[in-house]
Amino acid sequence: TKRSGRNGYHFFEASMNANARNQLQLLQDLRGALQRKEFSLVYQPKFSSPDGNVLGAEALLRWQHPVRGLIGPDDFIGLAERSGLIVPIGEWVLDEACRQMRVWYEQGHSKWKMAVNLSALQFAHDGLIDVVRATLLRHRLPAQCLTLEVTESTAMHDTATSMETLQKISDLGVDISIDDFGTGYSSLLYLKRLPANELKIDRGFVRDLTHGTEDAAIVSAIVALGRTLNLRIVAEGVETQLQQDFLTSVGCDALQGYLMGRPVPADQFMTALTADYPQ
Ligand code: C2E
Ligand code: CA
Ligand code: CA
Ligand code: CA
Repeated sequence: TKRSGRNGYHFFEASMNANARNQLQLLQDLRGALQRKEFSLVYQPKFSSPDGNVLGAEALLRWQHPVRGLIGPDDFIGLAERSGLIVPIGEWVLDEACRQMRVWYEQGHSKWKMAVNLSALQFAHDGLIDVVRATLLRHRLPAQCLTLEVTESTAMHDTATSMETLQKISDLGVDISIDDFGTGYSSLLYLKRLPANELKIDRGFVRDLTHGTEDAAIVSAIVALGRTLNLRIVAEGVETQLQQDFLTSVGCDALQGYLMGRPVPADQFMTALTADYPQ
């Protein structure tokens, strides 16, 4: 009826406004979050396979919101990206992750690599290379201790410019990891020329690994491709022993996931590591 239709419309409008207000409020909060020191990093270990040596860690951003509590990046990275705030936030992430890596370096873990995620806007930003170079210098961190993770779709967007940026990163001596691999549209030709060191198989393929043969076939194919192109293959989102066994059997070089280590603050990282790597 008319009435329920109108109610429905009003409800829709009201919830739209609520959502828009919500996003606007969140954006306002995000603007001051850096200054208020509300961001922190958690670190998830990366292990070589099958031997289980620690290869390093991936830094993952968290926001301690004064009202909403701890928020994960999926709930604010998009907003940070659209507003441009991701650039200064990303610089903070890089700085903090390199500072932490320097601490581990001095504790004797000089072969570890710290992986930092770059969003599309950061990757396209003119200042990126200078910021990376300056950050490494500031912390007296060798470039080999840093990996930058860019998603496949970021790396493959505007391929000529991306290729140039990736080459500059690579020239610094910093490793490049292609994140969420398998979800974008890499042409084999570009992939061959890409100055990358690592492919990270998207979590989506790992999740259903044991449920069907299709994802298993895709994962095997990505590993074979990586072998051919001389790229390290990392699987992320490993949660079960079955997944680990499969990934190891097809020859993945490294594994990451809740099964072998959850993301934790730096002060818990070493103790979390002493929990046995599942064989
Ligand atoms: P990502 O780079 O693909 O990171 C992996 C995500 O999967 C992380 O979520 C991690 O906590 C989660 N994860 C790890 N192991 C498992 C597992 O076994 N099972 C499941 N279900 N999940 C697992 P998180 O920390 O919420 O980050 C989400 C995304 O936000 C990241 O995806 C990355 O794209 C982005 N992100 C995180 N930190 C940063 C940052 O500092 N800068 C930028 N630009 N993006 C970031
Ligand atoms: Ca990542
Ligand atoms: Ca990923
Ligand atoms: Ca992702």
